[in-house]
Amino acid sequence: MSNPIDELTSILRQFPGIGPKMAERLVYFLLRQESGWIANLTRVISELKEKVQRCSICGNFSTSSPCDICSNEARRKDIVCIVENPSALKAIEKTKEYSGRYFILGANISPLDGIGPKQLAIERLLNYIRQYQVKEIIIATSTTSAGEITTTFLFEQIKKQFPAIRITHLAYGLPMGGELEYADEVTLRRALAGRLEINKLKEEEKNI
Ligand SMILES: [Zn+2]
Repeated sequence: MSNPIDELTSILRQFPGIGPKMAERLVYFLLRQESGWIANLTRVISELKEKVQRCSICGNFSTSSPCDICSNEARRKDIVCIVENPSALKAIEKTKEYSGRYFILGANISPLDGIGPKQLAIERLLNYIRQYQVKEIIIATSTTSAGEITTTFLFEQIKKQFPAIRITHLAYGLPMGGELEYADEVTLRRALAGRLEINKLKEEEKNI
């Protein structure tokens, strides 16, 4: 028979950032809790998949679809900020500087991890641009190399179909090689306010 301590330890080790020692500590923490506490935890975990879904417009996790952001009439539909994941969306929302909608990409292009352009929700993005006649796209990927490759890919795909659209990038002030979700609020607010159009960035690179 399997030992529940070992079984739970090996499950917890699959969580991001949890090593074997930490997994063990969490199991012993759980063993010290009252049974009511454990019952509540099990209920919340099982409800997670039942009650939380993906928003049909932006792809964010939400208890409703469209989510609160997409169903908010005060927010502009014709400005879309492309982020890698829900944590990056949360980081930008915290700045309270952005009043457009979002689009969650789900991943960055990373050939080493087997993630190519096909894995990105590019068709859904192009449909969104068409449907809501988007005027500006803000690409807010991380400043990692995978983020840079993804930015170039998105820029080319969008420009090919919508040449008149303004495409900007949050390059300004963000530390190189960093994940967007870890950037502090002040830096992010500044990066958002000082966002640059990608065409111009590319021209500047050519002139160097
Ligand atoms: Zn949404």
